[in-house]
Amino acid sequence: MLVLVLNSGSSSLKYQLMNPQTAEVKATGLCERIGIDGKIVHIANGHKTKTDHNMPSHKEAILNVINILTHGDDKVINSIDDIQAIGHRVVHGGEFFDKSVIVDEDVIAKLESIIPLAPLHNPANIMGMKITRELMPTKPNVAVFDTAFHQTMPASSFMYAIPYEDYKDFGIRKYGFHGTSHYYVSNEAQKLLNKEESKIIVCHLGNGSSVCALKDGKSVETSMGLTPLEGLIMGTRSGDLDPTVVTFLMEKKGMTGDEVNNYLNKKSGLLGVSGISSDLREVIEEAEEGNERAIITIEMMTNRIKKYIASYSAILGGVDAICFTAGIGENANLVREKVCENLEFMGIKLDDEKNAIRSGEAREINSDDSKVKIYVIPTNEEYVIAHDTYELVKG
Ligand code: ADP
Repeated sequence: MLVLVLNSGSSSLKYQLMNPQTAEVKATGLCERIGIDGKIVHIANGHKTKTDHNMPSHKEAILNVINILTHGDDKVINSIDDIQAIGHRVVHGGEFFDKSVIVDEDVIAKLESIIPLAPLHNPANIMGMKITRELMPTKPNVAVFDTAFHQTMPASSFMYAIPYEDYKDFGIRKYGFHGTSHYYVSNEAQKLLNKEESKIIVCHLGNGSSVCALKDGKSVETSMGLTPLEGLIMGTRSGDLDPTVVTFLMEKKGMTGDEVNNYLNKKSGLLGVSGISSDLREVIEEAEEGNERAIITIEMMTNRIKKYIASYSAILGGVDAICFTAGIGENANLVREKVCENLEFMGIKLDDEKNAIRSGEAREINSDDSKVKIYVIPTNEEYVIAHDTYELVKG
């Protein structure tokens, strides 16, 4: 069986063709600049190509992807019939969805009703589903939500301390994101730990970052909130701050609500504090040259992660394993080192040599006498999407 995994953004479309039973990836790629001009980076049969395509909308992007998969030097399947199902990454499932579902009219209507919760992401996700249903009407589509995994959080974790009726009337609460990643990584960690009952903290550190506390494999706390803005300091997002900053900015700079949203989501975080880049590699390079703002940025970012680890350990009543994943978590040994620094009192002891080793494999990086395991586990969100799709459609 082959599943086409799609992640539709406002002007981009990531795709992966995968066998969900073996996790073999047949092809993967990215359509960029949809609606502007259109480029496709396609990786298949061991090589990578970058080509220009006319893509006025996502429809042409998906048609181009199907064409690349089925024709020319980089083809990996003979026809569209070799694709059995399509799995869509959906950012926000609100309180409607606590697991993946087969897409039908009702699912689309529910997703449309919660567009205000994810105005940038959900419209693109819905558009992706509508297009594949139109282009491949006989193939089942499955929606896999970033939020669904966190629906196990207790009310004491997901409620904000605002008047209760606003939770009821408008759904203002913490939803959490990166659910497929937190699920995948914690599941792998549980296999490494080899115990049924577990207390795990997963740090998904990429451009967008979040921490999740898991008890026996279930999410009980996570750092992102109503939207992905809350929590850690990210590439361009501020993460936690005093909400008064918003009204203060509106008064002092005459900003509108949308402008403040843009400022906190696109101009803050690593980029805003360092003034260098949202890419941590560039911030680290500058810090190594002695750039004070870069040094402070890294200090702020790693301290924030440390605070979450300590507070989530308290909520869990201890911790068996801390996992690092995604671009920063998997690659930046400096970040792992700074996050674990001074946490020996909690039984968290990093092995510096193991931490310095670069590898694409899941690995243990704690010292032998560390009470808490520290793992680096490469995430695989596409696999979770393909696998959920397979499980739902195989019958
Ligand atoms: P996204 O959330 O867009 O999927 P990724 O998970 O790919 O992001 O993570 C991107 C981040 O990972 C960037 O900030 C990048 O600088 C960082 N990163 C990747 N490799 C390294 C590295 N070797 N050292 C430090 N940071 C790295």
